[in-house]
Amino acid sequence: MSSPYPLGLRLAGRRVVVVGGGAVATRRVPALLDAGADVLLVSPELTPALRAHVDAGRLRWEPRRFAPGDLDGAWLVQTAIDDRAAAAAVSDAAAERRIFCVRADDRAAATAWTPAVTRHGPVTVAVLGGGDPRRAMSVRDAVRALLSAGKGTDSVGQRSPVDTPGGREPTVGRVALVGAGPGDRELITVKGWRLLTEADVVVADRLVPGLLLDELRAGVELVDASKIPYGPSRAQEEINRILVDRALAGAFVVRLKGGDPYVFGRGGEELLACAAAGVPVTVVPGVTSAIAAPAAAGIPVTHRAVAHEFTVVSGHVAPDSPASLVRWDALAGLRGTLVILMGLKNLAAITETLLAHGRPAQTPAAVVQEGTTGGQRVLRSTLGAVAADVVAEGLRPPAVVLVGDVVGTLDG
Ligand code: SAH
Repeated sequence: MSSPYPLGLRLAGRRVVVVGGGAVATRRVPALLDAGADVLLVSPELTPALRAHVDAGRLRWEPRRFAPGDLDGAWLVQTAIDDRAAAAAVSDAAAERRIFCVRADDRAAATAWTPAVTRHGPVTVAVLGGGDPRRAMSVRDAVRALLSAGKGTDSVGQRSPVDTPGGREPTVGRVALVGAGPGDRELITVKGWRLLTEADVVVADRLVPGLLLDELRAGVELVDASKIPYGPSRAQEEINRILVDRALAGAFVVRLKGGDPYVFGRGGEELLACAAAGVPVTVVPGVTSAIAAPAAAGIPVTHRAVAHEFTVVSGHVAPDSPASLVRWDALAGLRGTLVILMGLKNLAAITETLLAHGRPAQTPAAVVQEGTTGGQRVLRSTLGAVAADVVAEGLRPPAVVLVGDVVGTLDG
């Protein structure tokens, strides 16, 4: 058999016909939509996932069997049906019109093959296995593992010819504010991890999982933001300065922050500082400890018929302080889940305020220290007793305090 000739089809706005509405079509259609193709789906029936695309107006559906006229104006056709005779009829109609036809039922009879694919930012790796899809997938998996491990990122990273036409070095770098997740190193997003492996400079928080930093590629400049020797406000200015200076010097800087960058993380201030200096910024959201730490302790922040709301609040300013922006009296009147971050130091004052404004003392409460990590500790208590229990048990930050009936709902 002669070897296939690889191509990257640019399908934006171009008609692609998919015949069939089952599992194979369900897997094939998203990549076509992602490529911007004008998808016409011909099939008497659809899976719910395909119907969702139809309902959202992302593709056109003809609810019937294939007719050769369906190929009018098409650039490509894919059959996703088991019925060989029906697929052969589609394939014959396509050949007559000189349209390439991918066949799910018979690769040997197809005029085009779809490769196994892995995508890394702007780079797409497509693998054909010489007629053996399993071989293609295992090679693809190996390449994907290599790219996710950060190896070979010099060729797919920020300063590759992919990003800089003509191979010129960019004069201004950029900054990514990346949420590292709550502590478990696997709870960073795929995008966050990819950017981390591409970074020239990583500026990391105290709460960032250490193991993530362990895996950075050699030669990365690592700045530990928690070691900056000034008070909190000077330290923030200093961090902003480091981000801007390194980026203006051409580096790709990843600002790695615990949880989500915009949940009590001062990510907004860093974004503004970069914007003011003309440095482009990407924000990669993260899994916040406000939801993940309770989850890791078996506490859902909402539960049907138990809590239809959750409120995330910072406890780092005492309730009676003039600097407080939180209406603790109003929070006491809510029935749902209260999630308090940075709340241990002021916990006695916070719980007293909630009790004074009417939240019942027997309301279940819990504290999750170092949630999602190997050092996780969980304390279960009540609103009336939790402050004393935290002291008695010697719980320390970082910890999330939960108040509400969701505490205990999943306990046997
Ligand atoms: N941006 C972070 C929160 C920063 S404020 C996020 O989205 O998670 C820091 C507070 O977050 C800590 O004082 C603590 O209340 C909470 N926190 C962060 N990591 C935590 C963890 N693993 N377990 C429990 N609480 C955590």
